Amino acid sequence: MAAFSNTSITFTLNSGAKIPAVGLGTWKSPPDEVRTAVKHALQIGYRHIDTALNYQNEVEVGQGIRDSGVPRDQIWVTTKLDNPWHRRVREGFEKSLNDLGIGYIDLYLIHFPCSTDPTDPTKHLPDWDFVKTWQEMQKILDTGKVKNIGVSNFQIRHLEKLLGDVSCRVVPAVNQIELHPGNPSTKLLEYCQSKGIHCTAYSCLGGASDNPLYKQPVLSQIAHATGKTPAQILLMWSLQRGTSIIPKSVTPTRIESNFQLDGWELSKDEMQALDGIKTRFKVVNDAWMPIKVFFGDDE
Ligand code: NAP
Repeated sequence: MAAFSNTSITFTLNSGAKIPAVGLGTWKSPPDEVRTAVKHALQIGYRHIDTALNYQNEVEVGQGIRDSGVPRDQIWVTTKLDNPWHRRVREGFEKSLNDLGIGYIDLYLIHFPCSTDPTDPTKHLPDWDFVKTWQEMQKILDTGKVKNIGVSNFQIRHLEKLLGDVSCRVVPAVNQIELHPGNPSTKLLEYCQSKGIHCTAYSCLGGASDNPLYKQPVLSQIAHATGKTPAQILLMWSLQRGTSIIPKSVTPTRIESNFQLDGWELSKDEMQALDGIKTRFKVVNDAWMPIKVFFGDDE
């Protein structure tokens, strides 16, 4: 196996900024556990933390960052604009910035291409789509309090509309999307790469610890042959597709093993074997949103 320091590599965005390849996810990380998890991750070498206003843990994520003692300028922090805040981007951004208490945000994302009524999240705002939201995102970039802006859960049709609009003067730096062997979205990934948009893979372990990926014989076979854990194999598959990864854990031993990705890589045959997994599933769906966001045409 080739030696490769995956945990220290970065991907260069279209803005010129360098996003650390391996970050810690924090969705569903309870506030009382996420502070310790973030501190631990940073102290063992992680330099990238992913959160969102929607996760309701930005205060504790910020505390964990400060507890770690790692200088702010060595850490990459991503957070996201929640659906009910699309018409109030500046306010939503300031709330995240204040709750995190870290001076500036490295990457701010539109969480979903779906605006909702702040008084009733089951209602879509019919007069406000993501193109308007992006106009506001571009304005906050001008404040200097955010270094990069991007999107999340955007499909090709959303990006085509956004990039084709005359008001789009900044190409999103990142599209954060669900990517794992059960949802490889190769067409969407290649589309983003062709437009200079970096993809971060979320749910890169396939979500819950008992998800269908762990039942795939090919995963166990490669893990056995390489002496790595199935989770590490999944993470390396994503890294070798050119995506940054943000595995979530609040378990210290898992936070550690998910970061043990240096000095090895998967062979071409192993990558192809994982590409051959036929099981299809998604961790995040759009049933809870008032409009359709996923169209199943991203293969
Ligand atoms: P994930 O990272 O694929 O999986 C997390 C689950 O796997 C947790 O139950 C965790 O349990 C467990 N786990 C972690 N390491 C493990 C290991 N080595 N072996 C076995 N199980 C392990 O799922 P995710 O949270 O859906 O996605 C990751 C991050 O992506 C999120 O936390 C969030 O930051 C981001 N995300 C973004 C969006 C979006 O719309 N932009 C959507 C979903 C996720 P423990 O914590 O108990 O260890």
